[in-house]
Amino acid sequence: MLSDLTLTEIREYVKEKGLPAFRGNQIFDAIYAGKSLQEVSNLPQNIKNEIENDYPAYKIANMFEGKDGTRKYIIQFADGEIVECVLMKYKYGNTLCISTQVGCRMGCKFCASTLNGLKRNLTAGEMLGQILLINRDIGGNKTERKITNVVLMGSGEPLDNYDNDIKFLKLVSSGDGINISERNISLSTCGLVDKIYKLAEEDLSITLTISLHAPNDEIRRQTMPIANKFSIEGILKACDYWIQKTGRRVAVEYTLIKGVNDKPEHAKTLINIFKNKLYHINIIPLNYVKERDLAAASRQEAYSFAGLLTKGGLSATVRRTMGEDIGGACGQLRNTLLGEAK
Ligand code: SAH
Repeated sequence: MLSDLTLTEIREYVKEKGLPAFRGNQIFDAIYAGKSLQEVSNLPQNIKNEIENDYPAYKIANMFEGKDGTRKYIIQFADGEIVECVLMKYKYGNTLCISTQVGCRMGCKFCASTLNGLKRNLTAGEMLGQILLINRDIGGNKTERKITNVVLMGSGEPLDNYDNDIKFLKLVSSGDGINISERNISLSTCGLVDKIYKLAEEDLSITLTISLHAPNDEIRRQTMPIANKFSIEGILKACDYWIQKTGRRVAVEYTLIKGVNDKPEHAKTLINIFKNKLYHINIIPLNYVKERDLAAASRQEAYSFAGLLTKGGLSATVRRTMGEDIGGACGQLRNTLLGEAK
């Protein structure tokens, strides 16, 4: 697919077809404008016919807007598969949460994305496409970006689709394209230790986010199957290596689940682990998923838990919940839509 390619590669592609190089620029600009092939006005029909099978055929299939302005987009790809993206509006700009896989095979007990397993990986161009389509939808273009920040926190485990992620990160931060700085991009992982070491070698300025969700391995194993493969100690060692290599701090996600990981003694353990280290802890009240038998901690409980952490010297905040009325949590909406389609 042409959205997987850099400008130079698209120029090569048109050259192989015997077309002049400027056609490559036109195709590249059309892709980055988020246009469908039909909407491209400066290419003759014979060229359109020739590139039709390679030109991206993804589209916005639906959009839901919550009371707080948060938008949930459903993006559909050429093969009919769908993923969700969430657009969050902040004072400083717009953050888009994109998906990296259709479904997920990590099996976390609190997460809706993983209920039907992994369908397939997304290509780099399909990850980029989510940004290009939504940037256009909210009035942006290649030079006037409306999306300022990107988080790889939608459906899927980014490090389980490693090569495509790296390619995507190069495309999205390229000066030829939409040019979103790596500093404004976060990658969230449930902690695939070997891949964290590999990522540290890539010389990227992205923020690494670890979904920890437990103070120890025993509790982590109750909700996250990946904890049977990698220990918290192993993950943190890899993160220390990341910090040492990149000089960038690591964010930790901690979803508060009532009666599972929310006790004062759990806060104490976290303080012991993270004290005097370059980490920030995000406390997230669990977003209730009806297929899962887990209870959400209240916002008040989340504030108290975060308060214990800050009193103990950690940098910790409670994540604002956004888009609750539109199925804001990962994979919730896709599952509802798939359920309706059945
Ligand atoms: N696989 C990656 C990224 C996708 S999930 C990861 O594990 O980090 C993005 C974040 O949302 C993760 O921290 C995930 O654990 C969290 N999450 C998933 N379901 C949730 C729910 N129902 N309530 C709150 N957070 C949830």
